[in-house]
Amino acid sequence: MRYELLLKGGHVIDPANGIETITDIAIRDGNIAVVDTDIPADSAQQCLDVSGLYVTPGLVDIHVHLYATPGNRDAWAGDNSILPDGFSFRAGTTTMVDTGSAGWRNFADFRHRVLDRFTTRTYGFVNIAGFGMATMMTEQNVHDLNVDECAAIAREHEDVVVGLKTAHYVMPDWTSVDRVVAAGEKARMPAMIDFGHFKPERPYYELVSERLRPGDISTHMYRGPVPCIDEQGHVYSYLREARERGIRFDVGHGAGSFCFRNAVPCVEQNFWPDSISTDLHRMSMNIGMLDMPTTMSKFLVMGMPLADVIRLSTIEPARVIGRPQHGHLSVGAAADVAVLRLDEGDFGYMDSFGGVLRADRRLFCELTLCDGQIVWDLNGRSGADYRTLDPEYGVRDVEELIRPPQA
Ligand SMILES: [Zn+2]
Repeated sequence: MRYELLLKGGHVIDPANGIETITDIAIRDGNIAVVDTDIPADSAQQCLDVSGLYVTPGLVDIHVHLYATPGNRDAWAGDNSILPDGFSFRAGTTTMVDTGSAGWRNFADFRHRVLDRFTTRTYGFVNIAGFGMATMMTEQNVHDLNVDECAAIAREHEDVVVGLKTAHYVMPDWTSVDRVVAAGEKARMPAMIDFGHFKPERPYYELVSERLRPGDISTHMYRGPVPCIDEQGHVYSYLREARERGIRFDVGHGAGSFCFRNAVPCVEQNFWPDSISTDLHRMSMNIGMLDMPTTMSKFLVMGMPLADVIRLSTIEPARVIGRPQHGHLSVGAAADVAVLRLDEGDFGYMDSFGGVLRADRRLFCELTLCDGQIVWDLNGRSGADYRTLDPEYGVRDVEELIRPPQA
């Protein structure tokens, strides 16, 4: 047997390599070994028929919250966090990035408890606020928004840190933005901005036009208060100009940051995200946002071609965080793979504010591989009809099936 696993007959979409065709993928030693048509089924220990399905790189979700800190009822994203493997693989996601749930004071603890412990590939942005999102107040304490400490922690953990973050800031000044950008300058990393409460003293257009550097990321790009569409119905030119000068725009759907009123005309007029992401946490995952395939489906039904939806959910976000080793199916790369099913029917999609868009297509995740291992299998494709198995299957080597005496 030359390969451990063979995915046969799927419609492969691998935007990083310009592949969009029906072909097979063979996996050896956890890596992509061959991408070719008609790889013999008997060349692999296991061959899965994925015809009729889309085979894509494992999804890269660069906005999630993974630092569960139970015990504080008033906590924000910190306490709303989820743990990665329970919610990543079922969505086709193999790489997740925590966006500032932990700050420079508790990032080492976050790394120890979460980033170093799960199968999902995980990275983090370090919050400029010492205790990150532990409570709403921790992100308001300007005495704890520390440029030097934040940059130092980011460099110390640079193997897992992809940038710096500020979020939820409510005051009418630029302190949190200016400090996180300064920390990014010092650590030579991008800053991600959740603009918090929008205030007339610090308008959003000034953030992306002047304050941020090329490579910095504005998340929650389709939030309600973001000025997206002018009175003539066109995408504001300041947004396109900001993109021209290198500002990155992230979806970060979440429970309060995605509004069809902004998203639909922006997608129609080709003002697309650099990264489709969920802002996954326990408040967003059950109503509205739901998961990565649902968020991707929204872009599909708003008119974005499927190959672009996949590109903006795989290789582009990997580039935004400076980790281009993820998000593609190149020979030799780790076999992180999502197998998606595109159904036709009557589906409803809801934004963060009760706005619904009905449409006739929806993506579901059938199968996920991480490092070549099957980590999600919605329809039991990796098993066999139980009637074809050994009559006493299910009894492990270390135990025995002891039958009661016959009457
Ligand atoms: Zn968030």
